[in-house]
Amino acid sequence: MEITLSVAFSYDITPQIEKMLKDFRDMVNFCIEKSLQLNITSYAKLRKNVYEEWKQKWDYSTHFCHSACRVATSMLKSWRRLKRKGKIKGGKPVARKLFIQLDPQLVKFDGKMLRISVKPRRFLYIPLKYGEYQQKYIDAWKRGELRIGEVTINTKKVLIPFRKDVDLTNPKDWIAIDINESNVTCVSSNPHVLRIEHGLRTIHTTYFEIRRRIQKLSKYKPITSKRLIEKYSGREKKKTHDLCHKIAKIIVDFAKKHNLGIIMENLKNIRKKIKYGRNLNRRLHSWNFRKLQFFIEYKAKLNGIPVVYINPKGTSSLCPRCGGKIAPNGQRVLKCRKCGYENDRDIVACLNMLRMRGVPVPPESLSMKLRKERNSSRRLNVTAYSLNHLEERTDLWKF
Ligand SMILES: [Zn+2]
Repeated sequence: MEITLSVAFSYDITPQIEKMLKDFRDMVNFCIEKSLQLNITSYAKLRKNVYEEWKQKWDYSTHFCHSACRVATSMLKSWRRLKRKGKIKGGKPVARKLFIQLDPQLVKFDGKMLRISVKPRRFLYIPLKYGEYQQKYIDAWKRGELRIGEVTINTKKVLIPFRKDVDLTNPKDWIAIDINESNVTCVSSNPHVLRIEHGLRTIHTTYFEIRRRIQKLSKYKPITSKRLIEKYSGREKKKTHDLCHKIAKIIVDFAKKHNLGIIMENLKNIRKKIKYGRNLNRRLHSWNFRKLQFFIEYKAKLNGIPVVYINPKGTSSLCPRCGGKIAPNGQRVLKCRKCGYENDRDIVACLNMLRMRGVPVPPESLSMKLRKERNSSRRLNVTAYSLNHLEERTDLWKF
């Protein structure tokens, strides 16, 4: 299986690069126009039909024409799909944003700089800026562990997709991961419980308050307030991003150590389905569970750990022991009306996920209980329980 990780690099735009981006946008719009005019939907056919005229208009390497055709075809494809669904009326798609997708033939990367063949024997050089994060990918690429895909450039960033082949092993046991606002709970079938109390909600609430205070300023000092909002939004994003990476790393390391496949809930449509009040809405919308799932998934795949998704329906309303209705019985605890089973609602959700995936849940797993945690002011509080050391802290990570 092949996985792709897109890594962003910043760079300083020059007039030459800007011109290339503008020309490329024009090429895409020209290709869209032609494609509609000639009623062509296939990439190869479009390329063949526009090439002569394209060559008259632009003095670039032929591969620019190929890339423009590819972008135009995919834009038209999604436009047609939306039109069929009745989500857009009339008009035609137009490329407005400045960006370019470069055919691998056009780009040379040496670890520090991109060299683009604008036309035969004429090159454009883009020095890339990077930090520790990007360096890791560059090093792996230099060692030959990663390949480079189709590079995208916009006015601010260069996006390089790094590709890797991975072998997914077939695990004996599985771990179910329940992500929510204040913690991530993982229960495995072997059995283990991993509980990560994280400060993601605190970060969002803090920055929400900061933004609200700045907004009061905007009447008198609009420019300063705009600058401050950008600054603090950037910080919030960076903090949550880093924290999500750390949480994902802990989970994937744990799964790797115990040879576990990963089960998560398919939350793709959760935002559409759930209608909350305004206050909760803000919290959920800024809360990054999809981001965290994405990090877990790609780190897992990099390590050869398979990841599966299940439909979240019923995970927190059914009894993992008898399948009956389970209902809240005090704070965060659920109790079954039929058989009297009682446990923490996050553990119940995980046990149901294992069951729904068809993983046998041993009775020991059903009796796994979490110790009440003190409210920790730490950003990350990780506790792992295993059957032999039930209610005992076996691992503790500190950050
Ligand atoms: Zn029950």
